[in-house]
Amino acid sequence: MRSIYEFSQEELTAWLAEQGEPRYRARQLFEWVYRKHATSFDQMSSLPLSVRRKLAAELEIGSLPVVSCLEGRDSTKLLLRLPDGETVECVGMRTPWGGTACLSSQVGCPMGCVFCASGVDGGVRNLTSAEILRQLIALTSQDLRITNVVFMGMGEPLMNYDAVVEALGAITDPARMGLSPRHVTVGTAGIVPMIPRLARDAPAKVELAISLGAPEDTVRRQLMPGAARWPLSELLMACDEWTRLRGGQPVTYAYVLIAGVNDSLKLADRLAAILKTRRHHVNVIRLNPVEHCDLHPATKEQTLRFVGRLEELGINVSLRNSRGRDIRGACGQLRRADAASRCSARQSGRHKVRRRC
Ligand code: SF4
Repeated sequence: MRSIYEFSQEELTAWLAEQGEPRYRARQLFEWVYRKHATSFDQMSSLPLSVRRKLAAELEIGSLPVVSCLEGRDSTKLLLRLPDGETVECVGMRTPWGGTACLSSQVGCPMGCVFCASGVDGGVRNLTSAEILRQLIALTSQDLRITNVVFMGMGEPLMNYDAVVEALGAITDPARMGLSPRHVTVGTAGIVPMIPRLARDAPAKVELAISLGAPEDTVRRQLMPGAARWPLSELLMACDEWTRLRGGQPVTYAYVLIAGVNDSLKLADRLAAILKTRRHHVNVIRLNPVEHCDLHPATKEQTLRFVGRLEELGINVSLRNSRGRDIRGACGQLRRADAASRCSARQSGRHKVRRRC
């Protein structure tokens, strides 16, 4: 069954014409779906009952079913059931300026980054564009006002290229979800051949974030074996191509700081050396705990030294706080299994846990 969220207004007009419906019907439907946030065709009272029935028989609408919902201090994590019974997690983060949806693009992840829970069981399958968009609908249904979207949940977005680009189109289409492309970021471990392609295909102003791991190939190979099959030199060339093709748009480099692995000042110097001539922003984030992984976050003191050194060397750097850590919904913590339930057993009374099956 196709999803209503896959259609642009033109495509829906054409599809409805094939069903013998007038052109204005697509406008009516879009009004219900994207302005009134209807999640069933039954709610669309301005449409004739016969049309509502026909639509319900042909098209999917609404959120993916919510298996469990964990609410933390500043985030909500949802475990969602996919039509084939697989599960996927997504997170909505509340900030003073709005809400950020962290969406998954795959069930599991084949990339095997050692600091990330998403790849523990390997990759299972790509999500469809509708499954990606229905995560956003699910988060919106939790009373989250989503203003930003990041593709930094489970999976490597550039390994599911077509569906992610299709979803980017829907998210930034003013007639549909209508988010500003400046507020939408694709995060990748660095699938080098796909970066210039994304530069051409992604809506203008959509941002690119590279999870760098380390500024040296030897360390990257230990941390990110899947992505490190492309040498750092090739990754940086692809990032240069991104900046060139998008009229000078910088690349964000996410740097997960791990004690004794990639937090030395020598590596800070190396990072500065490779980035100082490039348009960049560096986001440093201390490693979040991951169950299977015996790596530890850099100490707060070493983190400040590392960030300070980058600043001294003229690097445009921010130290990021992890949102969602209290519900295991922070960077690198999303899982395919019912991690939400396991996590909930450890929650203190501060957090409200709801479950639906
Ligand atoms: S960091 Fe991203 S690419 Fe690496 S295993 Fe996790 S989800 Fe996959």
